[in-house]
Amino acid sequence: MNIDALVKPRSVAIVGATDRGGPGRAVMESLGAIGFTGPIYPVNPKYPTVLNVTCYPSLTDLPEAPDMVVFSIRNPLIPEQMRLAARRGARAAVIYDSGFAELGGDGAKLQDEIAGLAREAGMAVCGPNCMGILNPPARVTTYKQSIMEPAAITGNVGIVSQSGSVCIALLSDLRRFGVSLSVSAGNEAVTRTVDYLDYLIDDPNTKVIATFTETVREPERYVAALDRAADAGKPVVVIKVGRTERTQHAITSHTGGLAGSSRVFSELLRAHRAIEVSDLDEMTEVLAVCQGKRWPQGRGISVITGSGGLAELILDNATGLGLDLPPLTPAERGEAECVLGRITGDGNPFDAWGNGNYAVNLPHAMSVVDKSDRIDAICYCADTSNDPIIGQPSRILENVAMLTTAARDSTKPYYLLSSRSGVMNRRQIDGMRQEGLVVIGGTRQGLGALDRIGRWSQGLPAVRAAGAGAPATPQLAERIDARRRTINEHDAKRLLAECGIPITREQRVADLAAAKAAARTLGYPVVLKALSDVIAHKTELGVVAVNLKNDDELSRAHAQLSERLDKLDPRPADLGFLVQEFVAGGIEVFAGVSRDPDFGLSLAFGMGGVAIEVMRDFALRMLPLRQGDAEAMIAETRAAALLGAVRGSEAADVEKLAACLYALGDFAWQNAERIAEIDLNPIKVMARGKGCTVVDALIVQSAL
Ligand code: ADP
Ligand code: MG
Repeated sequence: MNIDALVKPRSVAIVGATDRGGPGRAVMESLGAIGFTGPIYPVNPKYPTVLNVTCYPSLTDLPEAPDMVVFSIRNPLIPEQMRLAARRGARAAVIYDSGFAELGGDGAKLQDEIAGLAREAGMAVCGPNCMGILNPPARVTTYKQSIMEPAAITGNVGIVSQSGSVCIALLSDLRRFGVSLSVSAGNEAVTRTVDYLDYLIDDPNTKVIATFTETVREPERYVAALDRAADAGKPVVVIKVGRTERTQHAITSHTGGLAGSSRVFSELLRAHRAIEVSDLDEMTEVLAVCQGKRWPQGRGISVITGSGGLAELILDNATGLGLDLPPLTPAERGEAECVLGRITGDGNPFDAWGNGNYAVNLPHAMSVVDKSDRIDAICYCADTSNDPIIGQPSRILENVAMLTTAARDSTKPYYLLSSRSGVMNRRQIDGMRQEGLVVIGGTRQGLGALDRIGRWSQGLPAVRAAGAGAPATPQLAERIDARRRTINEHDAKRLLAECGIPITREQRVADLAAAKAAARTLGYPVVLKALSDVIAHKTELGVVAVNLKNDDELSRAHAQLSERLDKLDPRPADLGFLVQEFVAGGIEVFAGVSRDPDFGLSLAFGMGGVAIEVMRDFALRMLPLRQGDAEAMIAETRAAALLGAVRGSEAADVEKLAACLYALGDFAWQNAERIAEIDLNPIKVMARGKGCTVVDALIVQSAL
């Protein structure tokens, strides 16, 4: 649906306009304030004029078909007026009033009725339950608040928010950026976040997109829009709230239970190069960084301060956030110390106070880090506010001059960093802006924004080529009956083994005699397990016996398992036993695949056993995996510490483990339609060079 008439209407009719106030009057006043030149048609049977503009008794009486109709009326009256608007040829509408789907019941019905009318008439609709749309470059607005300073609003940030209050919040701080379009999308009965995204991606006025999202309504289109935005060079900054766990129904594997939709959504954003932030401070700083004429091209940040205390604070926060603050090299330190005298710490943050000669030391510090190819952004941390009470007044602009001078001779972006987000000096902001530079704030939010844009600029590593270097991936569709919802350990492992995943040596057996024979072939100690598609979690039934050292122990375990299995009612038709090698030692980790109903398959990795369910410490990535994902997943969980050299024990074979994760990801991706869940739990990881072994596996097929 074309939304041009919604975002930049050439004429606006206002149903329910009165001189007395309400959204209708605010919109009329704001249209005047913003410099709208098209016709405005107040519609109200009670008045001949509104704000001295000719008022029409009904939409039917308008002299032309209006591009846009805004409804400044209560919700029960809206369907009738929508019909009139459609009949009069309106192409778009804004409905402010609430009391629709957000209430459920009759409200939802009313919303459906309106949506039906709009679709039939081909009308784009913003709302209901929204604030409207503000389009400063096109000098048009249906935003229902008064605009006090129209000149200050225009800029390059496109805002799409499902919350009206968040629009208000973002528009309340336009010191460092302006708006190309601000949409309060409300309940999105007709026109949705993704429609606005598509518009903004193609909108030449928009450089960066900020979204506040509760519900993603068309997941596939949404993901495609994220990709298109990335290709267009426009970062999409996302706050996602209302993180309900949608995937909890019908989960068989443990992985399935872990990968709730909030984690999946974060990973989805990462996989499609969107920038996730958790609050408005973080968002504002990212939007500010995007106003610079240069953006950080990588993640290396140099922070220069005149304060040892701030340097320590910044280092603590930066380390906690995983920011990249590369220390000075010995050569750089030598060059710096020539001028500054001895410097403390590792030089990042760089306490450049030195011998106190501010005007010499700080520019010298900047010139040293500017040459480093590990540094992508240079910040000078210095605090001021709009109403400084103490300090040296001349410093305010001296700092700006120092940064602009350094930036002129550089290809890197320079920033003035206030130690707090939100506290800054307008003269500095303006002075920096004249040179295409930006003031940022907050040791976490401001520096975090540099990191986010640096990461964004680097793009994403390549997606793994199908079956990269691996043996031909078995196709479930050819090999496994589609009606088998769960595929037992033994059959699952054989499929995985074909993908190069190391599994236990094992044999399926029917009775004790065969079990003994198998144990002799495999060699004691062995493990005896019940085997059936319908027993997904064997330990829960007490049908796993490990470390059986001889025939006697095997016989006893067999008797015990048989007794427990005999109690099952009904007895699984496919019931058998599995004798497998006992894998002693190693560290137990798990890997699994699960399916999100909206966004598809993801891979999870973490510590094995119950630790994962209690700690919820696991890494997640969407499939297909990208180069480097498996190694990064292993490194980012607490399992990483256990897999390293601990208390004299050798480090584990993380290379083989990574290969195993890639193979699992490839297998799942190449069987994507068939896979609902996969659990490899545990995988036992041995010392470096000794590999890893999958000791238990479960595959759950999608219901066809
Ligand atoms: P479940 O179906 O309950 O997940 P598993 O096959 O994973 O059953 O076995 C339960 C536990 O027994 C595993 O987490 C692991 O600690 C241990 N175990 C299972 N098989 C082996 C094996 N072959 N070697 C060593 N330990 C094993
Ligand atoms: Mg298991």
